[in-house]
Parts: sequence; C-alpha cells; structure tokens
Amino acid sequence: PVNRTPEMQEERLKLPILAEEQAIMEAVAEHPIVIVCGETGSGKTTQVPQFLYEAGYSSDNSIIGITEPRRVAAVAMSQRVAKEMNLSQRVVSYQIRYEGNVTEETRIKFMTDGVLLKEIQKDFLLPRYKVVLIDEAHERSVYTDILIGLLSRIVALRAKRHMPLKLLIMSATLRVEDFTQNQRLFPQPPPVIKVESRQFPVTVHFNKRTPLEDYSGECFRKVCKIHRMLPPGGILVFLTGQAEVHALCRRLRRAFPHTRRRPPEREDREDSVEEMRKFKKSRTRARRAAAAAAAALPQISLDSYSVLPAGEGDEDREAEMDEEEEEALGSDLDLDLGDDGEDGGEQPDASLPLHVLPLYSLLAPEKQAQVFQPPPEGTRLCVVATNVAETSLTIPGIKYVVDCGKVKKRHYDRVTGVSSFRVTWVSQASADQRAGRAGRTEPGHCYRLYSSAVFGDFEQFPPPEISRRPVEDLILQMKALNIEKVINFPFPMPPSVEALVAAEELLIALGALQAPQKTESMKQLQRSRLSCPITALGRTMATFPVAPRYAKMLALSRQHGCLPYAITIVAAMTVRELFEELDRPAASENELAGLKAKRARVAQMKRIWAGQGASLKLGDIMVLLGAVGACEYSGCSPQFCEANGLRYKAMVEIRRLRGQLTTAVNTVCPEAGLFVDPKMQPPSESQVTYLRQIVAAGLGDHLARRVQSEDLLDDAWKNAYKTPLLDDPVFIHPSSVLFRELPEFVVYQEIVETTKMYMKGVSAVEVQWIP
Ligand code: ADP
Ligand code: MG
Repeated sequence: PVNRTPEMQEERLKLPILAEEQAIMEAVAEHPIVIVCGETGSGKTTQVPQFLYEAGYSSDNSIIGITEPRRVAAVAMSQRVAKEMNLSQRVVSYQIRYEGNVTEETRIKFMTDGVLLKEIQKDFLLPRYKVVLIDEAHERSVYTDILIGLLSRIVALRAKRHMPLKLLIMSATLRVEDFTQNQRLFPQPPPVIKVESRQFPVTVHFNKRTPLEDYSGECFRKVCKIHRMLPPGGILVFLTGQAEVHALCRRLRRAFPHTRRRPPEREDREDSVEEMRKFKKSRTRARRAAAAAAAALPQISLDSYSVLPAGEGDEDREAEMDEEEEEALGSDLDLDLGDDGEDGGEQPDASLPLHVLPLYSLLAPEKQAQVFQPPPEGTRLCVVATNVAETSLTIPGIKYVVDCGKVKKRHYDRVTGVSSFRVTWVSQASADQRAGRAGRTEPGHCYRLYSSAVFGDFEQFPPPEISRRPVEDLILQMKALNIEKVINFPFPMPPSVEALVAAEELLIALGALQAPQKTESMKQLQRSRLSCPITALGRTMATFPVAPRYAKMLALSRQHGCLPYAITIVAAMTVRELFEELDRPAASENELAGLKAKRARVAQMKRIWAGQGASLKLGDIMVLLGAVGACEYSGCSPQFCEANGLRYKAMVEIRRLRGQLTTAVNTVCPEAGLFVDPKMQPPSESQVTYLRQIVAAGLGDHLARRVQSEDLLDDAWKNAYKTPLLDDPVFIHPSSVLFRELPEFVVYQEIVETTKMYMKGVSAVEVQWIP
C-alpha cells in the first residue's frame, strides 16, 4: 500500500498513463515482454514503476529495475518517484557510475544502462529482478540496444527455470518496428500499448528563411520577441551545446535582468481576471518590484559551472572550441514593438524580468532541479537547454518552444576513428518531439528557426548510436558474456560489418581476443574473425570499467610498482580535458589579461610536470600524471585547480575513477594491495621508461611519424605527422608539451578534427620503422 499525499494523488490522476494502468498490467501479466509507447510527459517513467510496485513485482525481496540512458534522468526520476510515493530514497533509489543510494530496502532502482550491463556480467540471470524496464528506448543508445538484445535471451532463460522475468520497453516516439518486426530479437512480437496523451495543440511557425550561421542570435531575437509581446507561459529554447547555452543565458539575463527577491505586493494578484489583463498587471507589478530590487541586490550569476567531460556528456563538450560569444546586446532587435514604447532600445530592461535557467546533461543535479520549480513571481521562466530537454525531462509550464533545429554530436570516421564534434540538423521526429514540449499544459507555439523546406529534407528518425561509433568496448563486454558470434547477436539494429571488423581487429591486437587461424579465403577469414574467442587477458580487461586500450594498460602494469601510476593515467585519459579551455574569447580587457596570464601559468606548470629526459618523452601523459599528483597533494582544492587552469570537476571525477579502478585491480590482483595515495611520489626514471612501454602498448595502433624533410612537398606539411590510416597530415596540438619537441615517432590518444587534424595526448616512442 502506498500512502501518497492527496495533492500528489490528484496530480497523478491528470496523467494520461493512469487510464492505461489496467491495460498495461494485464499485458505484463500475460506476456513476458511488453512495449509501452507514449509521448514524453505522459507518465511512463514516473508511473509504470509505481504500477508494478503496487501489483507486487517487488515482493520477496526483489527489485524493480529501470534503466535510463542518462545519469541526469536516473537521479531525477528516482527522487521524483520517491516523492510521489511518499517513500524514502532508501526504498526508491538510484545507481549511476560512481554513486548511488541503493540500500537493502531498495525496491525500485533507477540506474544508467551501463550499470545494468555490468550486473548482467556478474550474474547473467539477474535473479534480484522480477521486472526490468528499459526506458527511453527510442533514444537508441548503444547500451540500450545491447541490453534489449541480452534481455530477450535472459527472459527466455528465466522462463525455462521457472523464475519468470518481465521486460518492459518504454519509448516516446512510435518507432517500434525495430523491436516488433525483428524476428531474431523477439520471435513472438510483443504487444504494444499506446498511451494516448492529452497533448494540447501546438502551432508550429517556420521561419521564412533559414539563418546560415547565427542561430544563437536568432534564438535571442526570438525569445526577446516572445517575452515582450506574448502572454505568460514558459519558454524553452533548444541549442546544441553547453557553451552556447551559457552564452545565450548571459545575453538574456542582461537584456531582462531580475533579482531573486519576491515582489512585495502579492495582494494585488487576482486569479480570476482574464489572461491578458493579468499579464499586463503582473508586468506592472513586476516592474515596480524589480526596479526597487535592482538597486539593492547584486545580480545572480549562474554562469560559473565548470565542465565535467565524460562519455555521457559528449554532446556538451568542446562547444567552446568553435564558440563565438555574442555580446551584442539587443542592438539588432528588428522587432515591431508593442504599445509600450519603453520596451525598445539597447538598455537592459529590468521591467520585464526573465527567469533564465540553463539545462544540459552535465549540469549539477541541484542546478537542474531548479527548472522544475515555479519561477519567482512576476517573472517568466526561460529554460535554455541542449538536447536533454527533448525527451528525458519534462519541464512544467512551457508554452513556447524555440528550436534552432540543430544538434551537436560526436562524429567518428568509421575507418580512421578520427572524431569531431559536428552540429547537424535534427531529424523530423526530434523536431516534432521538441515542438511537443510546448503543449503539455495548454495550447502552445513552436518557433522553428528554419524553413519548412529545410524541415522537409530532414531525416525521418535519428540514426541509432550503435551505427555511429566504434564498438570495441561493447564487443569486449559481449565476448566476456560468452557471446562469441557477435554477428549473430540479436541487435535491434546491428552495427556495420566494418565497425565489427575494426573492433575485433583492435581487440586481437590488444591480445583480448584470439587471432583466427590463417585460411586461404578472405571471406572465410572474415567470418572466423567475427567469432574470435576471448582470451584470459581479455576477461581481465573486461572487468575494468574503461575502454579496452586503457584496460590493456592496466593489465600490463603489475611490474615495477607501476599500477598506481597506470591507474592515474588511465583515469585521467578516460575523464579527458583536465585543463580549462583558455583559448576562449574574452568579454573584457580585464578578462583577456587574466586569460593570458593563466595561459602562461598553465604552460609553465605543464613544463614542470613534464620534467626532462625520459619523463618529457612520456609527454602529455606525464603532464596528466603530474597534474593529478600535484592536485591531490594540494588536497584537490578548487583553489588549486583555479590557479593552475585545471577543471575542478574533472579532477573530482578522476579521483572517483581512481578509486573505482583501484578496487577493480585489487579484485583481480589482491596481492597488489593497492590504495589511492594522495601523496603519491613521482615515478622513478625506470618506472617512467616502463610506463612509456605500457602507453605504447595501449596506443600501438595510434602511431604517427614526423614527415621527413624530403617529403615536405608544401607548407601544409610543415611540422606534420603521417599516420598509416590517413592521407592527410596530422599535427601535435599547440597545448601539448611535445609541440616544440617534435619527436620522430609518437603515439596519440585520439585525433580530433577542428581547424586541423590534431593529435591529443601525445607521447614519444622509439620504433623500428618498417616502410
Ligand atoms: P514520460 O516518462 O512519459 O515522459 P514522466 O513520467 O517523466 O513522463 O513525467 C510525467 C509528468 O510528471 C510530467 O508531465 C511532469 O509534469 C511530472 N514530473 C516529472 N518529473 C517531475 C519533477 N521532478 N517535478 C515535478 N513534476 C515532475
Ligand atoms: Mg520518461
């Protein structure tokens, strides 16, 4: 029995999914696998776990498990469901990569999909669960796809053992054919329950023209126009990356400043007056209040979040690289203004306070939670978001959506593995999803900053992630689950054969898979390639929660007391981007001077951390080690990070990952007796030499050779390197400590294409070149 508060009960009853409770529970009782489809906001994530709980699917000490592709959603949804059910977070809990609040009492567990995959590796049958829900299946994240494939088999196995497991797949858009029409995945097509949501009509407005470049500026102008001219209602803006989000937030806050203090004149509020009058009145009231408050209180700055780069946040990273900050304030408003003449001009307008909040996946959870709060009285809510607001989170009170039509994604070259962040058009399904966010509580409007002709050319659906990125980590995990013939695995959509071959080749090179016997025919070879068994080394590697090449480095580091260093290096390489972006445009002379001073300071520290001789040859990897060592030595303080241009959040994440990797290594190799030592001494010269071999072993396929002078055809090849995979030149990034050293042979962590192809994370190696 659940004791919900009456208010909560009332709120729940408004959700369309409540009407389907019986249908869903009957389908779950009769079928092992059920698909639930419903628009975002219809109540799938918050309600279906509660239905299952009330129907007893967590009895006998078992758990209802829900996977989310994003950490944000796992945390936020567990909190929301606990609150709705009036239960503690000891009962409704979450688990994400580094943290969680799961207890013995946990009955409903939200987790990221990676967490469930790890649990499957520990015990394939998932005995603690009576039901598993895969949420946001439409997002088609790689782990979601793999989990669905695995669970299709686990459900069958559990049925054989008379301990049935129920699988629910929950999805927003109705693209379920990959699940229902896929005989290999589900021989019996599972029933699909569609939740009719009470979606209010949303009027879609296309731009006549599509701006070529400046969609942020276009967003700014559109928000200004809406805010000045249209009735109350929240605004949700879709942009592509974190830096863009912050830039627009800053610009809007300056244009429509407000302070957090509540306006004093609450009594002149009349709830019954019709909308327009209320609107005018609240504006007057807010103006008065804001004018009084503006003089007294400092502006609230929400701009000081630092970035925490990690796999899950890739869509938000590197925005700074190409970010053009726009500081022009309202000067270009080509608006036909309303009756209030005072609304125009370049000055900040404190009479129309706008409550501007950023939202992106790496934002701290307490900051994210702000978007669920009603805005201060007399202000209008404006949330500037990345793609996260498209489906996983429902923000209350949104009436206007401004959609730039773009999304930022990491793009991998299939052959070379070179990655770049690309801003591309979204799919039609995504654009419609975004528009739908405006019609949750009343009829709304969506402003698309592109023409209807451009929309007509969009892809219908976004491609599943598995078709877009390297898959060696997945293949290793699957092999560790004894899935040898990966090619036969029931993927909702399989990765390309090229991607599978590339993954197996790398894993063979790393020694994680057994190389196939030589055969005459290429075809035969390729077929046996795709079913190589895992080696003992591969099994060890699979227990480390990092990419295979880094797992290999760990597995090699037992000797010479190198493990603590290897763990630190791998943690730092996995977290990526330890250093603040200092090449950003500055808003003022002062800031510019500050940035310059900091760049000099960071360059100096990097040289100190890199050292001389053998240690300098370890290059950027030595810098990582030195930076983490020095930061930990200082107690990992935000001040130390700030002074040395390090990202505090990255350092905190590295610390967590070091802890996790240390535990993982101790499990495989208890005699090592490792612990995370905050006062780790720098490695000795012989240890550095050994670390260089370890790094070269992990990055062996990422080898580049400096172009010899006789090959210098033109200037484009000055200081360039050549890799076996690419025809084009690649370069050492200016931020590297080896930028001036230009060693003949280097290995690199990755190549990222920005203005040029840059190698990042560079170390010098000694090689016998075989031309
Ligand atoms: P779905 O999973 O179908 O997209 P959800 O279950 O996430 O829908 O959300 C259902 C409703 O619950 C939303 O429309 C929203 O109004 C409300 N809701 C969800 N999370 C919160 C929260 N943290 N605070 C307030 N309301 C919330
Ligand atoms: Mg949901």
